[in-house]
Amino acid sequence: MSRFWSPIVHTLTPYVPGEQPRLANLIKLNTNECPYGPSPRALEAIRAATDDTLRLYPDPTAHALCAAIAHAHDVPADHVFVGNGSDEVLAHAFQGLLNHEAPLLFPDITYSFYPVYCGLYGIRHEAVPLDDGMRINLADYRRPCGGIIIPNPNAPTGIALGLDAIRTLLADHPDAVVVVDEAYVDFGAETAIGLVATHPNLLVVRTLSKSSALAGLRVGYAVGQPDLIAALTRVKDSFNSYPLDRLAQAGAIAAIEDREWLAKTREKIISSRNRLTDSLGKMGFEVLPSQANFIFVRHPDRDAAWLAATLRERAIIVRHFRTPRIAQWLRITIGTDAECQALIDGLTDVLAQNG
Ligand code: PMP
Repeated sequence: MSRFWSPIVHTLTPYVPGEQPRLANLIKLNTNECPYGPSPRALEAIRAATDDTLRLYPDPTAHALCAAIAHAHDVPADHVFVGNGSDEVLAHAFQGLLNHEAPLLFPDITYSFYPVYCGLYGIRHEAVPLDDGMRINLADYRRPCGGIIIPNPNAPTGIALGLDAIRTLLADHPDAVVVVDEAYVDFGAETAIGLVATHPNLLVVRTLSKSSALAGLRVGYAVGQPDLIAALTRVKDSFNSYPLDRLAQAGAIAAIEDREWLAKTREKIISSRNRLTDSLGKMGFEVLPSQANFIFVRHPDRDAAWLAATLRERAIIVRHFRTPRIAQWLRITIGTDAECQALIDGLTDVLAQNG
């Protein structure tokens, strides 16, 4: 508490990011980063951008990057907005598109930044409970609202909605913006970008942090019709008109163009996820059906906080949330096969102890 703080600061409950440990040699399965490196073409483009032009401001419109994204998704360039990670794109969407008198709707178990943005921007919202199978029930969203945001696949469950469900949400709410946060879509779910042309109320948000293995570069983007993009641009230009630096723009263009690298990463993660799901199932864990680069699991008779702490003693970190409804679950990022094997060995050991 400080008398120097603006009153709103006292009311904020900030997001708590997953741990970024300072120790080396940890098996880090807690923040859904990619265990494989980014496209070598992206690394080369970043190196090439460290030249005399760093004296100059970057292109505030990120014209070349928007063109590369538009080309990759077969949409016009004026349908694309880029930001400093999808967190920033989402922040602008909350402020510019989802802040209305009627409440914003999102699942009660979801990306925990959403309620944080609501606090920051004073957005009325209602968290809609997942059903008993931890799934989104569309019927529960059939009520007046000022907008809807859902991750697809959802986080931390990993469960995805099909495109028919997204179509239904859009049709049920023609006068509200529906934001589909596709941070994890490359790992098996269907993208809604193809629906943008026919749905003026749809904004799809993507990131290069997961399947493109560029979490450190901070690049995210949105695809929507120009009316929605114009709102995001207004907010951006009222806040920081240079969100993406020169290195990020150069690296992101090359990463987006290297589709082969992306496809290989996706295949490796999906097959490791399938193997890990099988192995943990055989060890007695309940594993939700994930289409993401993580799985959400619980053990019928071992406390999740204890499991996480005991794994940590073995230098393996996974994500445990304190939220009561999911306090018995662990979210585990899909690592390399060697990391997944170390997790299985660690858990086998830990389960042999009394917990
Ligand atoms: N959306 C979801 C559902 C996420 O889990 C994350 C990663 N924490 C993000 C968006 C933000 O990703 P980034 O800012 O790295 O693009």
